[in-house]
Parts: sequence; structure tokens; C-alpha cells
Amino acid sequence: MKTIVEFEHINATSLDEAAAALAEEGTMATAGGTDIIGTLRFSVLPDALYPTKLVNLKSIPGLDYIKEEGGTLKIGALTRLEDIAINTTVKTKYSCLAEAARKTASPHIREMGTIGGNICQMNRCWYFRCNDNRFDCIRKGGNMCFAMMGDNRYHSIFGAIGACIAVNPSDTAPALVALDATVITTRREIAAGDFWAVAIPGSTVLEKDEIVKEIQIPAPASGVKSWFVKMAIRKAIDFPIVNCAAAIGGGNARICLNAVHNNPYRATKAEDAIKGKAITMENAEAAAEAGLTGTSPMAASGSNPGNKWKVSAAKGVMKQAIMGCA
Ligand SMILES: Cc1cc2nc3c(=O)[nH]c(=O)nc-3n(C[C@H](O)[C@H](O)[C@H](O)COP(=O)(O)OP(=O)(O)OC[C@H]3O[C@@H](n4cnc5c(N)ncnc54)[C@H](O)[C@@H]3O)c2cc1C
Repeated sequence: MKTIVEFEHINATSLDEAAAALAEEGTMATAGGTDIIGTLRFSVLPDALYPTKLVNLKSIPGLDYIKEEGGTLKIGALTRLEDIAINTTVKTKYSCLAEAARKTASPHIREMGTIGGNICQMNRCWYFRCNDNRFDCIRKGGNMCFAMMGDNRYHSIFGAIGACIAVNPSDTAPALVALDATVITTRREIAAGDFWAVAIPGSTVLEKDEIVKEIQIPAPASGVKSWFVKMAIRKAIDFPIVNCAAAIGGGNARICLNAVHNNPYRATKAEDAIKGKAITMENAEAAAEAGLTGTSPMAASGSNPGNKWKVSAAKGVMKQAIMGCA
């Protein structure tokens, strides 16, 4: 157990410099620091995964912008969530993303936290996040998922990838999937739907020295509206119990839930059910019902309430997100 966290901190001045530093053993990137600093401060990771050097990306100039070019919205990875939430273009044309950013955390965290950090943040499973790495779980190189046998009321309702039932906690992730975004990194272009993964100890397909540079979102087709709905215990400073982004219109639909599975969950059955139909309460309800088929929630046992209740919560949230596109 690490009692004192010590690391070197460097302010990278270019993506090349940052990538070279991240290629070294024992390094990690930081942007706004609102996620990573907490994991270090509370000794969440096992010693072997602790960074000896933090590479600050925020000191790299030119990665903080929102602009439209050739019909594509481009958002620099270091753009703060608050800037996305209040941007007029994002609010009017890519509404689910603005709403997702607006509903994230608190004003202070939105002023610090970046979109790049939001999509790369580690999971919030209370066993994974327990101070002083009390539960060396499978996501950290251990050999079991403590949530499987413990309190899993907020965990996956769609089973596990790699025997871990932690959920992806990002609010902006489902909006990016619904809007068919592409993540541009220092190495490649990744469709948002392929960006997340159960990784040790992270949550993306990124290589260790790979950095998110930009997010690109195609202009919505004529008639498409999008919306985002979040359910959380508190109205602010709280992660989603379940959230949902929908982009519907012009005969098409893209709907993505998050906090229900290891990775954002694209509800293709709901999309098929609502495509080309009028957005009415009945149709939205039928689509949400279809979208939540195939769940495998955790059963209650002893003092563990399980999470069957999350299935109906997710249906309600999805129905509202669909109705928001009317
Ligand atoms: C109290 C509290 C409440 C919160 N509530 C919410 C919430 O409601 N919804 C929500 O979605 N999140 C929430 N968060 C999580 C998180 O802090 C924010 O989502 C924020 O956007 C993270 O961005 P950051 O720039 O601070 O990330 P950092 O902490 O700097 O980085 C997070 C991770 O991403 C990696 N990273 C950062 N930028 C890049 C990049 N460009 N390329 C590659 N890797 C990168 C880092 O290495 C690190 O692993 C909350 C956090 C706190 C502390």
C-alpha cells in the first residue's frame, strides 16, 4: 500500500514530447486532473501501476477549441466541459452533447475537466476506487471481481466483459456514440463506438503512449434531433446511475445508454424499433422496452439488493431521451 504518493510532474509542450514521455515505464497523462489526481490521492491503484511521472497535457498549446469545418464539428481534446456545455453551435446542433456536458459533475469540475479526460476516465466501481487499494480487483491485475459477490446495485445489467461488472461512468461518451463521433488520436482515427474497452487499469483501447487529440462529429442529417437524459442520486456532483443519448430523425436513430455495462451500450434494438416512426409516448415506450431486452442483472442476495431495478430505470431514462428528440 502506498502511503505517500510521490511523482515527477512535467508540463509537455507538444504532443510529440508528451507521447515520448508516455512511452516510458511508470508514466501517466493528466489533463484537468479531476479524475487521475483522485486516484493517486486516495491510493486507488496497486503500487505496480503507480506512475512515477505525470505528463501534463494541458500545457500543450492549441488543443482547446470548438469549430465547424467542412460540415464537421471539431472539438480539441483539452476543451473544458463547461465550454462545450455553453457553446451555441453544440447546444443547437449537437444538443445531446451539450446537455451531457452540462449534466456532468459540478461547475468547478466542468471548468477543469476536459472532454479528452472525460472519455478516458477510469471506472467508479466502489471496490476499484476503494482507498488504499483494499480490493485488488481483476481490473487492476488481481484475480477477482469483488462486485460480483458484493454490493453491485449500480453495476452492469448486461453481464461482464473479462469478468468485471464495473460500468463506464462517462456522461459525454453516450452522446458521442449517438452522434457517430470519431476520436482522433496521435496514431489513428477510432469510431466512438469502438473507443472503450475493459483495460488495466483504464477504460479505452488507447495504447500507453497514445493521446486523444480531437473529437470529430459529422453534421446531423436533416431532421435529426438529439437529446441526453441522466439519472443520478443527486442533481449535481454525481455520476450517472444510468444515462442515455439519442439522435433520431430522417429515418434514422442512434441510441446509447451508459453506466449499464462495462462500455457504453448501443441499444440497436431500440433504434430499430423507433426508426422511421413518429416519436410518441407509445413508440418511445416500445423502443425502450426493446432496447432493454437481453439484460442479465445481478440478483439480490443477503444484504445486497442486486440491480434488477436498474433495468426499469434504464427504460425510463431511454424513453425520456427518445421523447427529447421529438
Ligand atoms: C466529484 C466528482 C464528480 C464527477 N462527476 C462526474 C459526472 O457526473 N460525470 C462524468 O462523466 N464524470 C464525472 N467526474 C469524472 C471526471 O473528473 C470528469 O469526467 C472529467 O471530465 C475528467 O477530465 P479531466 O481532464 O480532469 O481528466 P484527467 O483526470 O486529467 O484524466 C482522466 C484520465 O484520462 C486520461 N487522459 C486525459 N486526457 C487524455 C487525452 N487527451 N488522451 C489520452 N488520455 C487522456 C488520463 O491519463 C487519465 O487516465 C467526476 C469527478 C469528480 C471528482
